[in-house]
Amino acid sequence: MNANLKSVQPSADAVARARIDLAACYRLADRFGLNEGIDNHLTLMVPGFADRFLLAPFGMHWSEVKASDFMVVNFNGEVLSGQGAVEPTALYIHQPVHRLSPQGRCVLHTHMPYATALCMLENPRLEMAVQSALGFYDDVAYDATYNGLAYDVSEGERLARALGDKSVLMMANHGVLVVGTTIPRAFERLYFLERAAQAQVLALSTGRPLQLIPEATIQKTIAQFAAGGEVGGRDRSELHFDALKRVLDRSHSDYAS
Ligand SMILES: [Zn+2]
Repeated sequence: MNANLKSVQPSADAVARARIDLAACYRLADRFGLNEGIDNHLTLMVPGFADRFLLAPFGMHWSEVKASDFMVVNFNGEVLSGQGAVEPTALYIHQPVHRLSPQGRCVLHTHMPYATALCMLENPRLEMAVQSALGFYDDVAYDATYNGLAYDVSEGERLARALGDKSVLMMANHGVLVVGTTIPRAFERLYFLERAAQAQVLALSTGRPLQLIPEATIQKTIAQFAAGGEVGGRDRSELHFDALKRVLDRSHSDYAS
């Protein structure tokens, strides 16, 4: 058991907030076109627990997921509360990452189009050729092996090892895993990863070569990102996620119910 996942007495408020934020995450991923059919999965460790996570019942469209829909699923795949089916790859990809990755309180797996397009290439690397990509400098792992559907825990454990201490895993011929210690941080990574991949794919579609950013400029910009991580005393990712939730509140407020 990971030491960072030690169980503590959960607060009912923390769990309720987590459910609302995870529902928002599903709705926003749908809004930005990051989902694929009813597949892919977004999960969050239940606050205060080290052995169970929140998962939407399989079969729901991401545009209809509500805070009250989530099942609580333990690491054996047993549904502890809520109702619905646990899709096998949701269990076998997400359980090992939650269990083995200290940074994986929130685990987002999608086949979002532009990042997945990069995962189809012989060289899937996110190039340091646009400002939004610089936020991922030295934070992307690449798994070069596609093994078909993850139908056993060993495949998820292999993916967790491939992820290592990074926040992004580009999965060859498949999609991405993005993790974070909180939902806002993980969603921020998912969103900007897709935006950076989109810019790269569009640039490459011109058939002209990319102009890479010089290493010294990369380092300078990364230092600027680090210094500007908080604005007005608040984390940028939280400000972004709060803004996105206000958008949902105006048009799809049932997500929080
Ligand atoms: Zn997948």
